[in-house]
Amino acid sequence: MKNEYLINVLETVKKRNPGEPEFIQAVTEVFETLEPVIEKRPDLVAAGVIDRIVEPERQILFRVPWVDDQGKVQVNRGFRIQFNSAIGPYKGGIRLHPSVYSGIIKFLGFEQIFKNSLTSLPMGGAKGGSDFDPKGKSDGEVMRFCQSFMTELYRHVGADCDVPAGDIGTGAREIGYMFGQYKRLQNEFTGVLTGKGLTYGGSLARTQATGYGLCYFTDEMLKANGKSFEGQTVVISGSGNVAIYATEKATQLGGKVVALSDSNGYIYDKDGIDLACVKQLKEVERKRIKEYVATHPNAEYHEGCKGIWTIPCDIALPCATQNEIDGESAAILAKNGCYCVAEGANMPSTPDAINVYFANNMLYGPAKAANAGGVATSGLEMSQNSMRYSWTFEEVDAKLHDIMVNIFKACDSASKEYGMPGNYMAGANIAGFLKVAEAMKAQGCV
Ligand code: NDP
Repeated sequence: MKNEYLINVLETVKKRNPGEPEFIQAVTEVFETLEPVIEKRPDLVAAGVIDRIVEPERQILFRVPWVDDQGKVQVNRGFRIQFNSAIGPYKGGIRLHPSVYSGIIKFLGFEQIFKNSLTSLPMGGAKGGSDFDPKGKSDGEVMRFCQSFMTELYRHVGADCDVPAGDIGTGAREIGYMFGQYKRLQNEFTGVLTGKGLTYGGSLARTQATGYGLCYFTDEMLKANGKSFEGQTVVISGSGNVAIYATEKATQLGGKVVALSDSNGYIYDKDGIDLACVKQLKEVERKRIKEYVATHPNAEYHEGCKGIWTIPCDIALPCATQNEIDGESAAILAKNGCYCVAEGANMPSTPDAINVYFANNMLYGPAKAANAGGVATSGLEMSQNSMRYSWTFEEVDAKLHDIMVNIFKACDSASKEYGMPGNYMAGANIAGFLKVAEAMKAQGCV
């Protein structure tokens, strides 16, 4: 990065956010691609847009006390970072995972600003979460945690103010408990959360949306480069919400998904993953991915997550967590013939990995564009809630498809306009940034 102004702002960000490397990584990646925009648009610099966009509008940090099944008091930490509301109410998921701290929530909230802008729907950026680990907890414990979490959060959120959703560790069960508590405290049945159950205001196709959207984006990127999913070998990491529905759509589009993982290890099934079995294990029984081999003797299970990237494939879809592909894993993917990486997870590639993709002319679909289908469909859930109406699965899926095609087009044309054709990372950052920046400038110094 050569632009002195951007270098200075980045220095301030580093000073203000010590010990938060994920946030610094996310800001650096965006800044590196904004240099041509800054040079072309001095008016945005004069309006202080860059100085303001890296500082959250509001950060809420709170205690979440709850009682476990043994009657013992447990205490977790809750976060909600309302990053930017220039183009709409704050919107972004809630992550429940022991690794959660302010740096993780801040990087996710920052990414969410640009992602939400790319969807073309009116949503600002936010993220929340807690270091609570739902794994191994009873339903009662999860419910008491979620109720306690919402007992503080309810005063900061609302259908026209801030609408949280799911993320790692927050699925339909957790959203249901949080929604119930919000309704009780506020005495109001509104669309304050998305990812709700279908019986109380949820949208059809929201469960599938991030994984399906990832494949729609990838398909568009492949087509623009003379390729398709047909007959391609696909490796997908994770086995949660995003990974499962990416597997389903990639298979429908003609790909063969041969591997999935969880935080303990990965499975390799050269015959193609039996998704019905994975859904039963993960969605119904909440078991570990290694149980798959008990009913599939031809499949292999390996301890450790990283080895999944040594499996030869054409297309890799990381759908687990941040920084799961480092430079070394990216180099192995490239050496084994992988020519396309599209991100279902948020920031799953380290900066070294991204350098490897570009050095090897691989197609690279960055998270804020490729996984925007989830929040886009959350936006559609908000619209349905406001209208008190619901669209069919086919209607929502068709809208999701259109949105993902348009996101690809926006990334593609911004990459060309700013002299970096084929660099969809730059295209996504620039297209996402410009809309928010114009809105911030128009609204004055707030
Ligand atoms: P889930 O909780 O449903 O699944 C997460 C999966 O990733 C699990 O298989 C989990 O394994 C694995 N995983 C989580 N943390 C780690 C880790 N530290 N190391 C290795 N594996 C890990 O979450 P989602 O599928 O919803 O989210 C996955 C990713 O997609 C996240 O980055 C999320 O931010 C992103 N995303 C999700 C959206 C959504 O709509 N759900 C929208 C946009 C992005 P285990 O069970 O062992 O923990």
